[in-house]
Amino acid sequence: MNKYNTQIPEEAKMIINELEQHGFEAFIVGGCVRDMIMERVPNDWDITTSAKPEDVKRIFKRTYDTGIEHGTITVILNVEHYEVTTYRIEEEYKDFRRPNGVSFVTDINLDLSRRDFTMNAIAYHPMRGFVDPFCGVVDIQNQTIRTVGIACDRLTEDALRILRGVRFSAQLNFEIEGQTKAGILECRHLLEHISTERIRDEFTKICISNNVNHLYMLYEMDLLVYIIKEVVQLFDNKTIDIPIKIMSLVKPEHTLRYVALLYRLGDKTSVNIMKRMKWDNRTIKEVGLIIKYKNIDIDNIFIKQMLREMGEDVFEMWLHFMEIKIQIVDANQLSKIDFIRQTRNSILENGECYDLKNLALTGKDLIGFGVPIGKEIGETLERLLLFVMENPDCNTKERLINKI
Ligand code: ATP
Ligand code: MG
Repeated sequence: MNKYNTQIPEEAKMIINELEQHGFEAFIVGGCVRDMIMERVPNDWDITTSAKPEDVKRIFKRTYDTGIEHGTITVILNVEHYEVTTYRIEEEYKDFRRPNGVSFVTDINLDLSRRDFTMNAIAYHPMRGFVDPFCGVVDIQNQTIRTVGIACDRLTEDALRILRGVRFSAQLNFEIEGQTKAGILECRHLLEHISTERIRDEFTKICISNNVNHLYMLYEMDLLVYIIKEVVQLFDNKTIDIPIKIMSLVKPEHTLRYVALLYRLGDKTSVNIMKRMKWDNRTIKEVGLIIKYKNIDIDNIFIKQMLREMGEDVFEMWLHFMEIKIQIVDANQLSKIDFIRQTRNSILENGECYDLKNLALTGKDLIGFGVPIGKEIGETLERLLLFVMENPDCNTKERLINKI
């Protein structure tokens, strides 16, 4: 047991202890137990308890309501935040997603039985060890993903579990067990009822995992059509291998992974897909910009124009994506990437101007010189900027005044 206890933060143990001192049961539970067994660092440590939310609030000094209607209170100990959730079961599900409500229960086994997969349905106590009614520990040892109970029933209750299964399989490199796989195939149409955002979040976790090859599984199991139907075409006409290869090599970051997945569809379609998936405006814009620029036969001026449009950070992402792509599709051209990088570096190191905010003359200056207010100001500034991009040494007030 010691090999596990050393991984658990002291605060989590203190919370469990405190709840027990007040006559309740408490365990760590869920993803953190799974990760602890696998010696992975969990995202967070969740605690489950027989204490009701009002008891939890009474026992601990610093708490806030996280999802009190679902029984979750966050306890702050030192600077750490821990979610403490009352044992609960879920009432009947409607629409194949959220349950109608929850009921608190007193038996930990009931709480574990509502969880999705056996590996996620294990509780652990620092003194008494595991509560593992569905043999999740063995499934973890065998690297198996298996629903708690009958697959079809559990996937019908909440169809998102279909994608959670594939996502865990990608993240942990586990196999989905046969009955569970059959259940996924049978229930996959229920994904229609799941919100775009929840689907997107699971899909994104697959895309930034170490196993992007699981996209082939999504296609083969006919799940992809519920996620991004346009990408199904890339599989159908066998043009997906290179995008997936690129995905596996670019940094595990959502913008870059989506760029690699979608670039063959062009920037307009990609932007529409990202909008439909309800991504934030920044991500949508970045994906569109990176995909838009396909040409690597570019000169100093064009690089400055790209820097102006993208900003330094997105330009860096573009360069990274292009480098990986060129490595795969046409390694002979890699020297062009080196040229672009060197040129970009020297533009930045020399502080060469590529946008209006660093131009030595401003609109106000122009008005001062008698340029009439209106579109002429903007046009003049654009002309001066282009001149300065071509002649970096000329970005001084005198030179620019001479120029006009
Ligand atoms: P991650 O490492 O991605 O956070 P996790 O297993 O902790 O994985 P969470 O989404 O944080 O996943 O959920 C915590 C726990 O709640 C799960 O381990 C599982 O026991 C339960 N759970 C979460 N979502 C569902 C669901 N849709 N159906 C059933 N149980 C779920
Ligand atoms: Mg978690």
